[in-house]
Order: sequence, then structure tokens, then C-alpha cells
Amino acid sequence: MAQKAVLIVFAHQSAASFNAALRDAAVQELTDQGCRVTVSDLYAMKFRSSATQDDIIGELKNPDLFQYGEETMHAWMEGRLSDDITAEQRKVEEAQLIIFQFPLYWFSVPAILKGWFDRVLTQGFAFTLQNMYSGGAFKDKKAVLSFTTGAAETMFQPDGINGDINVTLWPLQHGILHFCGFQVLAPQIFWSPAHCPAAARLQMLEGWRARLRGLLTETPLASAPCELFDLSFQGGFTLRPAVKEQQETRPFGISTGHHLGKPLPPNNQTKAPSEDSTDSRK
Ligand SMILES: Cc1cc2nc3c(=O)[nH]c(=O)nc-3n(C[C@H](O)[C@H](O)[C@H](O)COP(=O)(O)OP(=O)(O)OC[C@H]3O[C@@H](n4cnc5c(N)ncnc54)[C@H](O)[C@@H]3O)c2cc1C
Repeated sequence: MAQKAVLIVFAHQSAASFNAALRDAAVQELTDQGCRVTVSDLYAMKFRSSATQDDIIGELKNPDLFQYGEETMHAWMEGRLSDDITAEQRKVEEAQLIIFQFPLYWFSVPAILKGWFDRVLTQGFAFTLQNMYSGGAFKDKKAVLSFTTGAAETMFQPDGINGDINVTLWPLQHGILHFCGFQVLAPQIFWSPAHCPAAARLQMLEGWRARLRGLLTETPLASAPCELFDLSFQGGFTLRPAVKEQQETRPFGISTGHHLGKPLPPNNQTKAPSEDSTDSRK
């Protein structure tokens, strides 16, 4: 079997953190499997998080009204993106799997990782309006969020004080990763490692190592394929009427975001369909 390339995008400040231990476990486990593993250690790299004019080498197309998306798309086409972005884009191109390892910050990723998304996933390189979601640039690649929380698992249940983790994950997994085409694997969540006994942390590490042994062949999360939608400006990129009709009798929405005013399909952003029989597209 050809050697697989894995990129780990790591966003924690401390080499002694639990996140660093999780990163090291992934590097070791995947290397032992024969993968070529690259780590982008964002804080160590002092990766810039803000999307600015400094990301473009040379003249701007429209200096009077700076539009980051437009300017970086042209810069990408002309090979004029800053070196740090180009280096990350090469790593993305090479990788079959990307693991994002981070602590949950404000129901989301730390700013440095959000900056990686903003700056590396340039229009043209990572998506176009013709090629997105299941038709996206990275449709043959897999991605997984692996993160730690401060909160306990119960707090992120539908009746917990933080609300349903599936809702929290939708913007990251659907709005960023799947938008660019990635097949998104079920997230690996380490609930509250700072507030549990040391033995529980060791179990978490062991569970992660065990999952890493089969990660590359896992089935991705269910998502609504592009074919379900009228992908035209006249159609408004909404569900095709025939699909809407088919969905009427189904008990759940299609996905966390495409809920159609019905109950959310349980675990839509946390479990792959094979692990959960409530995939309402079936
Ligand atoms: C700005 C900000 C926003 C936040 N927002 C949220 C939020 O919205 N929701 C939420 O739930 N949380 C939130 N948090 C909390 C944050 O998610 C947690 O603090 C973080 O996930 C804990 O992970 P860590 O790697 O930093 O833990 P650490 O504190 O580094 O580690 C936890 C424990 O593991 C130990 N450890 C380290 N290495 C190993 C090893 N090899 N084996 C065993 N044990 C080890 C450490 O010594 C420590 O005792 C936020 C925090 C900040 C700063």
C-alpha cells in the first residue's frame, strides 16, 4: 500500500499540555503504521492569525477597496501568496488526512487555528462556488477535529447548559471543512481532561491510540450531497422540490443544519452513519 501522508495542525501553547500528549500519540501511532506525518505547530511557528494585505506579495488589484478574498484568490493564481501560506497549502495538498488538534475555545477553535483556516483555505485553492461541499476541492481527503474541553460531556448534551455539541460543531465541520470538500470524520472529543483523575486521562490517550489504528479507513459523517440541491442562482442553492417532498414524511431533518424545521437527526455531527442508524437520507 502506498505511504499515506498525514498533516497534524496543532494549536496549543504548551509542550507539557494534554493536547501535546495527544499530538505525540498521533505522531507515534501513525508513524508506526508507515504514514508520513507532518506537524504544523502553529504557536511554535508564530503563525499569523489575521488575514491582511501582508499575505499578498506585489501589487494589489484594487488598492482603493481591499477585498481579502478576491485579492488572495488572484495572488494564489499568480503564485503571489506569502511564503507561510504557500508552505501550509503544500502540506494540505500532500495530505490524505488532516488532524486538527486543539483545546475548545469559546465553542470554537483558538484564534491561531481560525487564522489558519482564514489564510490557508484560499478561494481557488480550497473552494470555488462551482466546487464546494461533496464536489469540493478536497473531496478525496479526510479531516478530523480532535479537541479537549473544559466542560463535562453532560454540559454539551441537548439538555445540558451549553446545548447540543452537534450544533457547536456544525460551523467548523460543515461550514469550513466540508465546504472545502473534506470528508469529515467523527470528532475525537476529550471531555474535561484537566478535571478528571490521572487514570482517566491515560484511558483517553489509549482510546485515541486505538482509534488512530483504523482512522484512515473510517466512514465519514453523513452530509447532504450537492445533488440534493438546485445549484443555480435562480434556484437559490436550495433543496430540489422532489427532495423536499421525499423528506416530508421523514421524522428527522437531513442534517444538523438542514433540519427542515424537524427534530435534528441525533448525533449527526458526532457519529458516522454506520455507528448510528438515524441517517435520515436513507
Ligand atoms: C480562551 C478560552 C476559551 C475557552 N472556551 C471553552 C469553551 O467554550 N468550552 C469549553 O468546554 N472549554 C473552554 N475552555 C477550556 C479549554 O478548552 C480547556 O482548558 C482545555 O481544553 C484543556 O486542555 P489542555 O490540553 O490545555 O489541558 P492541560 O491543562 O494541558 O492538561 C490537563 C491535564 O492533563 C495532564 N497531562 C499532560 N500531559 C499528560 C500526559 N501525557 N498524560 C496524562 N496527563 C497529562 C496535565 O498535567 C493536566 O493535569 C476555554 C479556555 C480558554 C483559555
